[in-house]
Amino acid sequence: MDCKWFAVCPMKKFYEEGKIDKKWIELYCKGDWESCVRYKMEERGELHPDWMLPDGSTDLRLFNYIGEVTK
Ligand code: SF4
Repeated sequence: MDCKWFAVCPMKKFYEEGKIDKKWIELYCKGDWESCVRYKMEERGELHPDWMLPDGSTDLRLFNYIGEVTK
């Protein structure tokens, strides 16, 4: 079963746009989504940036990419 947030999660979009590795989707979104930091924060209603990966690390390349596409 996929993570319940998958359809609306920025990680799905980034993956489809070739910006993040497939391993993130396989390991978390279609795997152990309960251990995803994004998932846990979403459940607690805590804000988290779109450029934060499922392991909780932030990705400067994603930060810059978001900046480009939202110009
Ligand atoms: S990144 Fe986390 S919250 Fe987003 S769909 Fe994947 S498992 Fe769910």
